[in-house]
Formats: sequence, C-alpha cells, structure tokens
Amino acid sequence: MASVLPGKMSLSPATTTMRLFNTLSGEVDDLVPSDGTELRMYACGPTVYDYGHIGNFRTFLEIDVLRRFLKLTGMRLRHVMNITDVDDKIIRNSAAAGVTIGEYTAKYVHAFFEDLDALRVERPEVIARATENIDRMVELIQKLAAAGSAYRTEDGSWYFRIKSFPEYGKLSKKDGARVDVDEYEKDSARDFALWKAPKPGETSWETAIGRGRPGWHIECSAMSMEFLGSSFDLHAGGEDLMFPHHENEIAQSESVTHKLLARHWMHVRFLLVDGKKMSKSEGNFFTLRDLLLKGYKASAIRLALISVPYRHQLNFTFDGLIDATAKIDRLRTFHDRLMKGAFPAGESAAVQAAVKKAQEEYFAALANDLNTALALAPIFELVRLANTAMDQGKFHQDDREAVKALLADFDAVFVVIEDHDAEPTRRAVEWAKAEGREADVAPELRAQVSLTDEAINALLAERDQAKKRRDFARADQIRKELAEKGILIEDSKDGARWKRR
Ligand SMILES: [Zn+2]
Repeated sequence: MASVLPGKMSLSPATTTMRLFNTLSGEVDDLVPSDGTELRMYACGPTVYDYGHIGNFRTFLEIDVLRRFLKLTGMRLRHVMNITDVDDKIIRNSAAAGVTIGEYTAKYVHAFFEDLDALRVERPEVIARATENIDRMVELIQKLAAAGSAYRTEDGSWYFRIKSFPEYGKLSKKDGARVDVDEYEKDSARDFALWKAPKPGETSWETAIGRGRPGWHIECSAMSMEFLGSSFDLHAGGEDLMFPHHENEIAQSESVTHKLLARHWMHVRFLLVDGKKMSKSEGNFFTLRDLLLKGYKASAIRLALISVPYRHQLNFTFDGLIDATAKIDRLRTFHDRLMKGAFPAGESAAVQAAVKKAQEEYFAALANDLNTALALAPIFELVRLANTAMDQGKFHQDDREAVKALLADFDAVFVVIEDHDAEPTRRAVEWAKAEGREADVAPELRAQVSLTDEAINALLAERDQAKKRRDFARADQIRKELAEKGILIEDSKDGARWKRR
C-alpha cells in the first residue's frame, strides 16, 4: 500500500494507509496489521470506582475515532479493552459501603457503558474484566518468577525486579527512578508490585502464589497476552498511563515473551478545562452526566472532545460546547435540506469537483495522524458551497448522491449528524432523580423530558384541530408552550413536525 502524505491526491478509502505517531519510535509510522488482515489492538479501560470524567472520555473518544476511521478504510480490527474491577480504591470503598467488590463496581460498570453509548463510542471486540482473569495473572507472575524477574517478600506480596529488564524506560524515556511511597517490602525502591498480600478483611484470592490480589499493571499484561497473543499491533491509552503503567506492562510481558509487546503506541493527551487542570477543588471537574444535566447534548460533547487532534492539548470550555452545538445544527439542517429538497435532474461539474476535493482532504487529514481539526474543515466548506448552489438552483439530483456519500463517510467517524441526543438526556435526568441530584437538572431540561413523545403528538393534534376551527389563539398558545419546553414545531405542506431542541 502506498503511504499517504499530506497534499497527495487520488485518495480513496481503499488506498488509504493510516499514519499514526508512535510513542515508542518517536515518529509518525504506518499503522498496518502485522498479519496483513486484522489489526490487533489493546486499549487500557476504566477503573470502575466512580463515574467517568470528560478527560477519561476524551481518550476513549479519540480511540473510537481511530477505530471508526480504520474500519472506514476497510481494516478489520480485534480491539481489546480491560475493565479494572479490583484495586485499592474499589476494595476500600466497597468495604466502607459494606458490599462485595462485585456489587460495588456493577453500578459503575453499567454507568461507564451507558456513557459510552451516549457518546456513540463503539464497543471493542473484546471486553476483559480483571476479576475474571486472575488465573492468567497468577500464571504470568509464576513465569516471571521462573525467569528471575519476580520475587516474593515476607508479607506474601510479589514484586517485579526492574534490574532484570535493562530496556526499562524505552517507551517513556524514563528509567523508573521515581520512588514509590509504598508500605510493602521490596529490594529496590524502583520495583513495582505484581501481587499484593491482603490486609485483614480485604478481598483476596487464594492462588498458587499465595493469597492476595493482582496489581494493576499485571492485569493488562496478562489480558493482552490472553486475547491478542504475545505481540500485537497497537497499544493505546491516555498520556498519564505512559509512565509507569505502560512501561511496567512492557517489562512484565517482554521479560517472559522476549517479543515486542506492541509495535505501535498511541497516547492521547489530557485536556484542560478553562485553561486549568481539571480538579474537584478547582470546581472545574465534570463527568459526562454533569454536562448532560446542564442541558448540553451528547453529540455536542462528543464533537467538542474530538475536534482537537488527540496529540494536542484540548482546552475544554462551555463556549466550545456551544460552538459544537451550532456546528451540529448546521450539519443536521443541511442534511435535512439535502434529503428533502427537490433538485433538477443531472449534475453540476462544480459541485462534483468540490465533493471529490472534500473527500480527498477529509481522508488525507484523518490518515495523517488522525488530524480531526483538518478533517472537519473541508466538510464545512462543502456544506457552505452546496447551500449556495442550492440557493442558486445549481444543485442537481446526482449531486445529492455524491454529497450523501461524503456525509456518510464523515458520520461513520464523527457520528453527529444522525440525531440520537434525546435518549442520553432522558437517561441522565432519570439517573439524577434516582441519585437525589434533581437540583442539578437544568430547568428547561426538566420540562423537556417530562414531555413524552405521545404527549407532544397529542398537543400537535390539538393544535391542528384548533387551526381548523380557526382558533389561532389556542394554536399559538400550544406552540409557545412546547417551545418553552424545548420542542420546536416545523409546519410543512405534509403537516406539522416537531423536534427536541
Ligand atoms: Zn493498561
């Protein structure tokens, strides 16, 4: 396959080669499946002790953009994501709540997938839960011990001996000299825990290496090996995981396999909120649910979080969300016009050429290190041009087909034109009620979700009747009432239609 360089023309989905920055090589490399057929990738998933914040979701969204684009270029994927459903916080919080760790995490696992659905993030091919793969972790620690890379301390914990892996630091270019504050015994301050002996009353497993629970790093090594083999194509995660988590994964896996854990490493940069690091004490900490309850649409949150390329720091602001909302409105209004408009037969050479150019630029931008900002530009330029052509009667039936195909390619990756926004909002409001957070629901939203589709249809029917008997005051009153609740009515020759704002 030919590589894609910026500005190089004659691009089409089938000939696109993805070029992606590789943290390991420090360069933008071709991303291709080593077996020529299926790209095997692993992405570190959530630790399910709380609701995900928008920084977490930016990472999952950027990985979603990558996987959707790769699929659009015809690539087959085997994408594995772990769920860390045992760790110190989970053990502590579940004990405090007087429930098992399974009972404690169930709620957050459910919430995580609900949030991914709201943001239209595709499910990976394999979802692996740490607590269901303890045996694999124990086996890996046994292999590490046999290789002289793991040792047991007096309390029954196991550690990785960093001295045994001279390549330690090759990903992050750090050597692990940071001293972890840790209450466990170990040979060297750099060494990290593979297995933790339980303290009294803590959740633990009885295994061949003793009673205890796995460390976080060993989970990802064991599960990637289990589901992708000893060496795979791409490993992805947030930038905060590069060191020490990914470095430790490399040390654990490669000490046993003597193969490259992953050829390609993708790290998504963190975001700022209003120019500051997001933190609860700054008051700029947001979960997805917080934003939905404020009345922002899931699609706008998705677009705001992906419109800055993954390697750049995103400064998340409410102005940015409002801007994303306006962009989506423009796209949806245009799409409506495109689908419903009556256009003369034939095609316009100018529109056809513009569509071809937009398609090439769109694919080139995404293929070039997933430049989402550059990919959006030709789409909006095309919308502007097509709107003008429509206004001037220079847009034809065959142009519609060409533009439809382009928007389909666009929405296969960005996933914002098709309107799925009502459901996440309705669910967030339901959730807020169940959690006693009703006060956080924006007033407009409260009214909006209290109106069912049936109730709206009934009001519209009443409005039709009012108009027929020339009671325009009542008809107008109903329109106003609905508008206050965020329901917009569009009158057309086929009758009235409505949509949620
Ligand atoms: Zn991991």
